[in-house]
Formats: sequence, C-alpha cells, structure tokens
Amino acid sequence: YQYYLQHPARQGRTDTLPLPDLALQYADYAVWQRQWLQGEVLAQQLGYWERQLQDLPAVHGLPLDYPRPRVQTVAGATLHTRIDATLAQAFTALCQAEGATLFMGLHAAFSTLVARTSNETDIVIGSPIANREQSGIEGLIGFFVNTLVLRADLSGTPDFKHLLSQSKRTLLDAYAHQQVSFDQLVERLQPQRSLAHSPLFQIMLVLQNNRQGTLALPGLELSQVEQGADIAKYDLTLHVTEGADGLGLSWEYNTDLFAHARIARMATHFANLLQQLVQQPAHNVFQLPMLAAQERQQQLDFSGTRYPDYPHGLCIHELFEQQVRAQPDAIALAFDGQYLSYAALNQRANQLAHYLLTQRQIKPGTMVGLCLERSLEMVLGLLAILKSGAAYVPLDPDYPLARLRFMLEDAQLATVVTMHGLQSRINLTPAQALCLDDPALQAALAAQPGDNPGTAALGLTPAHPAYVIYTSGSTGNPKGVLVAHQSLLVSTCARLHFYAPPLQAFLLLSPCGFDSSVAGIFWSLISGAKLVVCNPASLRDLNRMVHLIAHERINYLLAVPSFYYEILSVMQSSDFDRRHLQGVILAGEALMPHIANEHLAYFGPGCHLINEYGPTEATVWSSAYLLEPRQYHGQVPIGKSPGIGQLYVLHQGQILPSGTPGELYVGGAGLALGYLNRPDLSAEKFVANPFYDPGQPHSSRLLYRTGDLVRWLADGNLDFLGRIDHQVKIRGFRIELGEIETALLNHAEVREALVLVDEQRLLAYVVPEQAADVAGRAYLAETAETAEKADTAAGLQQRLRHYLAESLPDYMVPATFMLLPAFPLTPNGKLDRKALPKPDRAARQSAWVAPENALQQTLCELWQQVLGLPRIGLHDHFFLLGGH
Ligand code: AMP
Ligand code: MG
Repeated sequence: YQYYLQHPARQGRTDTLPLPDLALQYADYAVWQRQWLQGEVLAQQLGYWERQLQDLPAVHGLPLDYPRPRVQTVAGATLHTRIDATLAQAFTALCQAEGATLFMGLHAAFSTLVARTSNETDIVIGSPIANREQSGIEGLIGFFVNTLVLRADLSGTPDFKHLLSQSKRTLLDAYAHQQVSFDQLVERLQPQRSLAHSPLFQIMLVLQNNRQGTLALPGLELSQVEQGADIAKYDLTLHVTEGADGLGLSWEYNTDLFAHARIARMATHFANLLQQLVQQPAHNVFQLPMLAAQERQQQLDFSGTRYPDYPHGLCIHELFEQQVRAQPDAIALAFDGQYLSYAALNQRANQLAHYLLTQRQIKPGTMVGLCLERSLEMVLGLLAILKSGAAYVPLDPDYPLARLRFMLEDAQLATVVTMHGLQSRINLTPAQALCLDDPALQAALAAQPGDNPGTAALGLTPAHPAYVIYTSGSTGNPKGVLVAHQSLLVSTCARLHFYAPPLQAFLLLSPCGFDSSVAGIFWSLISGAKLVVCNPASLRDLNRMVHLIAHERINYLLAVPSFYYEILSVMQSSDFDRRHLQGVILAGEALMPHIANEHLAYFGPGCHLINEYGPTEATVWSSAYLLEPRQYHGQVPIGKSPGIGQLYVLHQGQILPSGTPGELYVGGAGLALGYLNRPDLSAEKFVANPFYDPGQPHSSRLLYRTGDLVRWLADGNLDFLGRIDHQVKIRGFRIELGEIETALLNHAEVREALVLVDEQRLLAYVVPEQAADVAGRAYLAETAETAEKADTAAGLQQRLRHYLAESLPDYMVPATFMLLPAFPLTPNGKLDRKALPKPDRAARQSAWVAPENALQQTLCELWQQVLGLPRIGLHDHFFLLGGH
C-alpha cells in the first residue's frame, strides 16, 4: 500500500483512497474467535474430530524409494502434469451428476490412488481451507487458512459413486467443524511424537479454483514465479489448478523419500484412474486398470515364465538311475561314518521296491508311510518307495502319537517302512509295519532282484504323486500336500541350472517330514553328488557339526537362517577350513541382514549365500536370491523365479506396480496336486490363473495363493514383507495359529482361546470355562495375588500344556499361557488386541532358590546375562523366561 501511494504512476494523486473503509479488522476476528470457540462450542467441534480421527494410522503406506530419514527434511521437487479438458469436463460432470463438487471428486480419486499404491484402506489426506465463513471477512488481509484432516475408508470393494458420496459427507462434516485449528487438534489428539514425519497426515491435496486474474499495474509487467521448486512441505502434495484447458497437476514430493520415476508413474496412474472412474463409476475401484501398458508388461515379465529344458516324461528316480549307470562307484550316501555307493544304494532300494511291489500290492499312487530317524535307511526307504511307484508319506518319529495316528488315517497308510523301536511307539500293526531291522525281512529282501523295477511296466507316470508332506492346518488338523514326480523333477532340475559351482557334497540337516529335505536329497542323487545325512550327535553339538562339514568336504548346505547363524558363530570361533564350502542356502523364514552380513564378512566371495523362498505347496522353492558382496540393510530380497514357474504380486486380481505390497501367487510346473482329501481347501488355495494363455504350458493354468505379502523391487527381485493371515514361522517351523487355538478349544476347561507370537515365542490367551476362578479383573496367572488363585491358574496351565503336547509337536506348544476372565473388546465388539496384557517376564520366575554348586552358579550367571534378568534361581525355566 505504501508502495502504491509512492509509486510515480499515481502521479501525486494522494487525495482519494481507492478502497472502501473496513468494517472489521483481523483483530476483531481474532477476538470474536477466541470468545466463540470455547466451552460447549469447542467441545462439540473437538468431539467431532476425536471421533473422526480415532485410531488414525500414524503414517501412510506409500512405497518409499529411500529409507525415511530419522528427521523429516523438506528437500523436494515438483512434477507438472495435465488432465486434458475433455477428461476434466467429463470428470467434473460425473461429480456434479452425483451432487458433489470437483474437489470432492478429486479427494475420492486421489484417495483411491493412494489406497491402490500403498495397498491400504484407511487413507488420510490433509487439505487447506480458506476458513472465511462469514462474508464480512472476505475482504480482510490476514491469516485465516486452516488445515483439515480428511479420512477415507476404502475397505471392502468400494466403487467410485460410493466413495464420492463418502467424500461429500466427510467434507461437509469437516467444513462444519473447520474452526478447530490444526495445532489445537494435534494438541488434543496427542499422536505419537515423531520427528520423522508430520503429525496426523503427510499427504496433501490442494485445489486452486480461484481464477488467477492477470494482475496489471501501470508501468509494470508482471508474471507468476513458481515458488520454492526444491521444497516439499509434506511427503506428497498434489496441487490441482482448474483452467480452461483442463486440470493442471503439480506433484510436490519429498526427494529424500521418493524418486522422480515413482511420482511420474503415480501421475500416469492418476490420469488412467480418472479415465476409468468416468467410464465405470459403479465398478470396484481396486479392479480398475491403472498401469500403463508398458509398465504392465514389465511387471508381467518380472513374473518369469522362461523355462529351461527339463527332461520330459521321466520320474525323479529315473534321473538317479542315470547317475547309477554313469558313476556306480561314487559315494551316494553317508551317515555317521557309514557310506553307500550309487550302485549299492540302487541295488538295496530296488530290492525293497520289488518286495513292496510283490508283497504289498503297491500300485502307482499308493501311499506308503516312512517313519525313520535320520539314517542311511531313511534315504534308502524313500527311494525304494518311489521306485515301487508309490508316494512316500514321512512320519516324524518325534511327533506326538495323536498326530501320527491322524496322518496314518488321513493318508490311509496300509504300509509303513520303519524300525522295531518305532513300530511299537506309534502302535503299528504287524501287517502295517515293515521293520528294516527285522532279520526275517532282511533275508527276504536279499532274495529280491536288484534291478530297477522300471516305470513303464508299473504304469507309473510323472503325473503320479511322489510324496505327501503334512503342514499345520488352520482348522485344527494338519493338511497333506500332494506333490507329483513332475513337480519334484522340475523343482530339482532347476537347481542344476541355478547353482554354480555344481553340487559335490550336501549336508542334510532337515528331517524328511519337512519339504526342505526334498531339496538336498534329490539334488544330490540326480547330480551324482554325496548326500551326507547329519547325525544326531552333530545336531546337538555344533562343534561336531562344523567338524563334519570340513571332514566330509561339504560344498553346499541348506538351513533355516536362525540355525545357520549358530553354525556360523561356531565356524568363526574355530579353525574351520573355509576352502570347501561353496554355497549356503538359507530358507524357510525371513533372512535378517545381520546374518547375511556376517556370512559375507567371514567367507568373502568364496562361499555364496542364497536366500531361497518357497511354500511346500509349490515344491520347495519358488524364488531365490544370490547375495551380492555388500552390506545389507533392511530385509534381504527373496529374488526371482529360478525358472520353475510364474510369480505374480496381486491385489483383488490386479497386477501391482513395483513397490506396492500384495499377495504372492505362484504358478507353473512346481505346483502341488493339491491337499490330500481336501478338495474344498484345494479349490480355495489353488485358483484359476487369470493370465493364463493357451500358449503357456498346461501346468500354468492354476496359481497357488501363498498368503505371503511381498512387493516387487525396481530390479525385478521380490521383497518379503510378512503374512496376510495367521500363519507364522518359529525357528523355521510353519505353524497355523488357528490349529493351536482349535486344539485349546477342544479342552473342556477352555471357553475362548487366542494364540499370538511374542518375541519369537508362542503366547496363548485363554478364558477358562470357570472364568470365576480368574474373575475380578484381568490378571496374569503368574502374578495372581492370592495363593489360591495362583494354584488354580498354575494347575490349569499345566493341564493345558500337557494336553496340547499330546496332539501337537513341541514347537507348537505355547511357551506361556495367560488366563483372562474375558477378552478385552473394542467399542464395536471386536477383540481388542492392543488391550491384551503383555506377559511380564520377571513375573514368570519361580520362587528363588540359590544355586548350590559352582556349575549351577555359572549357569545362573549366564542366564542372567542372556535373558537380561537380575537374578536367576535353580527352578527357573529358560524358555518360559523368554530364552530361545
Ligand atoms: P513351508 O511350506 O514350511 O516351506 O513354509 C513356507 C512359508 O515359509 C512361506 O509361505 C513363507 O511364509 C515362509 N518362508 C519360506 N522361505 C522364506 C524366506 N526365504 N523368507 C521369508 N519367508 C520365507
Ligand atoms: Mg519349505
């Protein structure tokens, strides 16, 4: 104004002011606001926001290209794109037809973009509002602007019309409560403080719909200057400008979080989405095509459909027989100082196979149990069963009787290859059991021919099942996964292509009840390599194991990462000869970066480290990642398909862009035949492949839904993010929490049960039938105030523990049981997981009894260090106290 008065262009006309007098000043407004916004009005306004923003997600889930800095930065860049006039008009018309404004439409569409990019449904977006509600203040200069927090719910299968009406409601309500300033709101809601991102929302939407009139001043030429092009106030702000030529979009993004390419892709997705929303406003927005054709093709290429040439028409043991012919004298099998050559192993397996065929009426597809401890016989028996045309069903001798009995029934096992000691343990009838240590049987076997039974004569084809492996089932019983020779053959031959240098000696750690054993057994036997079955003593004593690895010149081993970490630390502290080991395969659970980094530092380039991923249902492995010689942070990728089949990352049937989390679907030759006796479950998990085209192999027509949450990285590797259901892995063991819950509910004293994983241990919450015994208030059994209650609770815990141990393997029995009078519920009646009491470790300690001798003293001190507890007594239980 000063400038105006003094400007020469005014030519000394200081007499009249061109502007009318102000009826109100900003200060008047401030006083009014302060008086009005208190008491009931304030409470009502704040109340709305408290309800509306209850349990707000702390931060959005948009995929980041760089790890979020600990302290938020404002480094930014802006990308400008356009929506052409035709589309802009059509979109505006659609909004109007639904009784909504353009801004409401943009809010609904932008929320959809964020939801589909992050694969989340609770979407929070901020938006500035002019906040000049009274016409009297329209002409005032002053800071009125406020920021509204807008929340969209995209759960279920929402269509755009539905989202539009939701946005309309959300916005109208927000406008009606716009007087509460953003800082008041933050103060009231008290979100978890973080310097890493702004509170309540980090994504903003701005619509600039005031026509920007060109400002003209006499003697001056004015043009608009883009402000602060290298600044981003939020993680992402979309500025929309309405113009005659369509919508101008400015994508202001934080360059410490996002790469330009990602924002450019999102801008393309947004344009494609708007187009689709206009065309199909009543269609589920999660199913509208959003990716550009080229990007879609690239994502499809990631899925990896190129197959190496696998031998056709053969069963897995025929590849072993080829090795027998090629190198009969090579060592095939080693166990605890005993060795078998390829020729000898083949001869003995053939004799048992002939016996099975003639004495047990085995037909292709018959199932034969295999219940043996780790031994030469374990591998021999398994080969013999395959050679007879049957499928083997491993029965882990360590499993509780009830579980083994279930498997015997379920698979209708008329024959079980076993030993005397185990036969009586699992109550096998003499007709069922084939005891390899029975002298009579041994004599009968010696009389059998030693030649290959052959497959053609048996009518055996690669489509027949090779094995059934049981895994935990969510509805209370384990489920048998049925795998055909063909899948086993492809899965195994893929190893010959993927792994270099070739396999020479493999150390088998897993028992044959887990499908990770399949990897090493068959890879060895079809490579002409030596399969070393780890002896129990070496499993107990890792010094012996490390010695065994060196002594047998093992060049590959496969282990669960957490177990390998222990082996590695023993290698590090001994004079282990590093020359022979050429590859360590880690599989079965997420590979933590510190394990990878230690391996890489210890071995250097001499010994590869591979992260293998795969469910039993897709025959051992579906993807693999060879680690590079660098430091890993965050999780180690699970890699790409090694040429076994396709990998799709999908959500509601749609291909997702790189970075967006979705469920992994696996297809191809490795897919299992399904679950034994469970057609319904098979149909639920093995679904039609929407991308199947008749040019692809027949085996690609189904996809297995893994239940694993993954995302594509930009380089075509997969990143594992976790599970989308209640399946967990503990020390590599696959567990359905529902199976434990069902088992608990079968107990007469249990009314409700819930099982969780807490710090790598299973934790069961139980509401007893006699809830009165634990009534009053929620309490931990371990911290019961009265001795009587404590006794009741401790007694019940003991009973539950024993009960579960009768039907579940030990790794499925919870370490802790917490008894509650009732489960905590949320206001809308759902289980409130956050309100469940946390087990208190110290409270689980027994009454203290002092150690009596030096050894006990040393152990107690060790436990104190390891468990971080101040005092350990004689009767304390390592695992109950959180050890693992
Ligand atoms: P299983 O059928 O016992 O082999 O278990 C398969 C499940 O283990 C997968 O669905 C994953 O949840 C998990 N899993 C296997 N390998 C890996 C890996 N390398 N990283 C992360 N999770 C894995
Ligand atoms: Mg596995």
